[in-house]
Amino acid sequence: MNPRLVAVATEFGISNDLIAARGFRMCEEAAYLEVAESGADGREHLLIPAASEAWRMLKSAALADGISLFIVSAFRSIDRQAEIVRRKLSDGLAIEEALSICAPPGYSEHHTGRAVDVSTRGIPLLEVEFDQTPAFAWLTQSARQFGFHLSYPVGNAQGYQYEPWHWCFDEAQPWGRGINRRA
Ligand SMILES: [Zn+2]
Repeated sequence: MNPRLVAVATEFGISNDLIAARGFRMCEEAAYLEVAESGADGREHLLIPAASEAWRMLKSAALADGISLFIVSAFRSIDRQAEIVRRKLSDGLAIEEALSICAPPGYSEHHTGRAVDVSTRGIPLLEVEFDQTPAFAWLTQSARQFGFHLSYPVGNAQGYQYEPWHWCFDEAQPWGRGINRRA
């Protein structure tokens, strides 16, 4: 196993039993990334090229329907994920609680460069009320045409809280074909 993962699992007290019980799947860090979008703050949001291209197509299709979408967070390294978990623990959460709102380092879809946390104008970022917006309704209707799916619906098998903002590109899905022209 990746020695970095062993080190963070030890640091955070994440046992193999916990990983197995929750059904977490390991996610490799993407090797090739490109800038999918730059935030208003200048932050660059990185995705693998196929996901980046699909995202831009999705975004312009949404815009044509009067829906504005932007990326809050895309690629995240294992080290960055470890920082996030570390902060949750220092805020006083138990590891089991922390892992209901963020993935163990090495197990986040954000490592793959395929996942995006998205938002739309006029609402707080990464709150469940995103699912009340026209943007969410549009995504529910149309995201699959661009190869994106909602990873963590209510009652998801991995035991994460409902994340209406987290969408992942999966070129292996039939609806992803035609988007990933590099395949
Ligand atoms: Zn996410």
